[in-house]
Amino acid sequence: MIKMEDIIREGHPTLRKVAEEVAMPPSKEDINILQSMIEYVQMSQDEELAEKYDLRPGIGLAAPQINVSKKMIAIHVHDVNDTLFSYALFNPKIVSHSVEKTYLTTGEGCLSVDREVPGYVPRYARITVKGTTLEGENVTIRLKGLPSIVFQHEIDHLNGIMFYDHINEKEPFTLLEEATPLDR
Ligand code: ZN
Repeated sequence: MIKMEDIIREGHPTLRKVAEEVAMPPSKEDINILQSMIEYVQMSQDEELAEKYDLRPGIGLAAPQINVSKKMIAIHVHDVNDTLFSYALFNPKIVSHSVEKTYLTTGEGCLSVDREVPGYVPRYARITVKGTTLEGENVTIRLKGLPSIVFQHEIDHLNGIMFYDHINEKEPFTLLEEATPLDR
């Protein structure tokens, strides 16, 4: 299982690399890694397990964060209607997005960042993602709201991008034009 000491932190060069495509069909090893990633996000949201194993709660994890520079992400998050979005994907790709933007009024956090970085992070309000599941199924997922933001955050990790790269350095809380704020 993945523990906090397996998660690399900002400053580590792997977080700035563009991750490699995972060869299809995925190897047993890649399947095991992705499986452990989705287990981490699920377990970290269970209060008892999180305390027992000292896991910082997370709603998403990308393989580069465990020092594996491959295109794999795991997400486990509920939207405002309490609908669960739980996905472990190989080679996720944003195939289309809205013009409209959004941002979390609380800003974003990251398991690889041990500090609060205040500021609005502009994201597309709606995206369509394609990828391959652990079972080898090719899926197309339409997302909005918080799940859309989480997918963009995790897919950014596959391109060496950290959430704070998107924050306006001089005016981190400038209201973003044509962006709809989102409260978590
Ligand atoms: Zn992150």
